[in-house]
Amino acid sequence: MTGSVDRDSYASEFAARLQQIRAQIALSARTAHRSVTDIELVAVSKTLEDYQIDTALQHGLRVFGENRVAEAEAHWAHRRAQYPDLKLHLIGPLQSNKIKRAVALFDVIETVESAAQIDEIAGQCARQNRSLSCFIQVNIGAEPQKSGVAIAHLPRLAAYARARDFPIDGLMAIPPQGAPAGLYFGLLKKLAAREGLERLSMGMSNDYPAAIAFGATAIRIGTALFGERKQIPTP
Ligand SMILES: *Cc1c(COP(=O)(O)O)cnc(C)c1O
Repeated sequence: MTGSVDRDSYASEFAARLQQIRAQIALSARTAHRSVTDIELVAVSKTLEDYQIDTALQHGLRVFGENRVAEAEAHWAHRRAQYPDLKLHLIGPLQSNKIKRAVALFDVIETVESAAQIDEIAGQCARQNRSLSCFIQVNIGAEPQKSGVAIAHLPRLAAYARARDFPIDGLMAIPPQGAPAGLYFGLLKKLAAREGLERLSMGMSNDYPAAIAFGATAIRIGTALFGERKQIPTP
């Protein structure tokens, strides 16, 4: 177990990392002639322990991303009352049997990839009297193991959502590892513009400055903020 001294040092390391990320966001935004207020920092809290989450909350962070519905409930359900201004993003694949719980917990679902999900999310929003913001995840590098709609099918899925007044606010993607991320960020921006979508969730610890240069409106940062994760969840 981590002792209280370790936790104090975690808090000061966290503060330093947060400050550095905010400085980098400001620099990248200025370079791209963008406003920092147009770039949302989504703190990715998957696999973290309670003291790490509490540290982030104590430093004023309120926007968090989670990969899995059950883990997100464990992290956040009991913290909602204390932090009514929390904003939770689902950034992992959404299984059909978890949609009811996802709609109950999350404010933003970034990983919509099918018409069936749109129907189920819309149904749950009506039943639970909830309104969410949704993003379509695009499989931007056409990788068989990755989630997201194929680029060729994006126009059809976006049209399906529009025809139902379903709120799609933007696109989300994870570029292939090892490839120059900027190419993929630029492509995602072009795809979003073609669909009339303004928001772009792209950029993680390793590539968020490039994502900001290419127009990211949300960056999803885990490791650079919280330190190395203990275990990587399988999606
Ligand atoms: C884990 C995860 C992140 C954060 O990744 P880091 O490299 O730790 O910043 C961002 N987006 C998604 C979809 C993730 O699963």
